[in-house]
Amino acid sequence: MSKIILTGDRPTGRLHIGHYVGSLRNRVTLQNSGEYDEVYIMLADVQALTDNFDNPEKIRDNILEVALDYLAVGLDPAKSHILIQSQIEALYELTVYYLNLVSLARAERNPTVKAEINLRGFGSSIPLGFLCYPVSQAADITAFDATTVPAGEDQAPMLEQTQEIVQRFNNIYGETLVMPKILLPDNKASLRLPGTDGQNKMSKSLGNCIFLSDSSKEIKTKVMSMYTDPNHLRVEDPGTVEGNPVFTYLDAFCAQEMVDEYLEGYETLDDLKDHYRRGGLGDVKVKKFLNNVLQETLTPIRERREDYAQNMDYVKDVLKKGTEAAQEKASGTVARVKENMRVNYFA
Ligand code: ATP
Ligand code: MG
Repeated sequence: MSKIILTGDRPTGRLHIGHYVGSLRNRVTLQNSGEYDEVYIMLADVQALTDNFDNPEKIRDNILEVALDYLAVGLDPAKSHILIQSQIEALYELTVYYLNLVSLARAERNPTVKAEINLRGFGSSIPLGFLCYPVSQAADITAFDATTVPAGEDQAPMLEQTQEIVQRFNNIYGETLVMPKILLPDNKASLRLPGTDGQNKMSKSLGNCIFLSDSSKEIKTKVMSMYTDPNHLRVEDPGTVEGNPVFTYLDAFCAQEMVDEYLEGYETLDDLKDHYRRGGLGDVKVKKFLNNVLQETLTPIRERREDYAQNMDYVKDVLKKGTEAAQEKASGTVARVKENMRVNYFA
């Protein structure tokens, strides 16, 4: 059986370092591993409209911003099809068929959707499209026969819902859809990177992000004003490393070479943590180190992004070609689905 990747992002804003460690970094490695027969990376504009339907211009603008982020981190159009969700008709068709296989109670039970509904303050006016977006995600994943979905931990409930739909569909209509699996980052800090506020997951919708496109100055300002351990008041005080976002970011980004280069007097990141726990290590010193680590990671990404931004015709062409390849693949799946559902009357 072919090994196929499908994953993507909502074009609701530029991508941030949570996306990078949660999914983008993995995607690039997988893309370059040569182990996958096909890779599809989706700009999920239809999904983004479920809670931004009154602001389509925002979604439109961010399609190109996210495409730039993709190219900047090293997604390669020669290896990965970058596509726009709304332009693939097959996805709407599959969504409609799959909606019959999911109960309202099941849709309401999805913990990620529940949390997002609370955060967005929908109250009792939850758009049906929003409640059902995990079903449309099942369509996205199965349309490409995806075996593997590299994503952050918040996506685990979505994958579960997709697996249930696949199983139900195949039980009723015969073996048709491919069963997908989520691929989480193997670095624990990267599963759900917190925001610079230390309170929530870093998320475009919450204003607690360090963006891949931030200038060197913006990165520094954000790092230096990050939330840390609120009980670590004086340098001498013992500090807490667990749940302290400055250390979580170091866990997600810091390589041993960066310790060697930027951190005098410590052999490893663990030594730095031990010192913080014992007391006598100030937040400013740790933040300066984190700033160096992030600058080293993000500078080449930002520079590549600026280069691609000089050539938007190329970027648009990448999207057009990727979308065309995706249309072809997904319409094959829909034909198979309709045949097995016996709704192919004129075949
Ligand atoms: P929005 O606020 O519009 O939902 P978002 O910042 O949550 O935006 P998404 O487009 O919903 O971003 O997520 C895209 C991908 O990035 C998913 O695979 C998701 O798991 C991953 N991701 C998003 N935020 C984080 C994070 N803070 N840590 C790890 N992975 C993340
Ligand atoms: Mg999200």
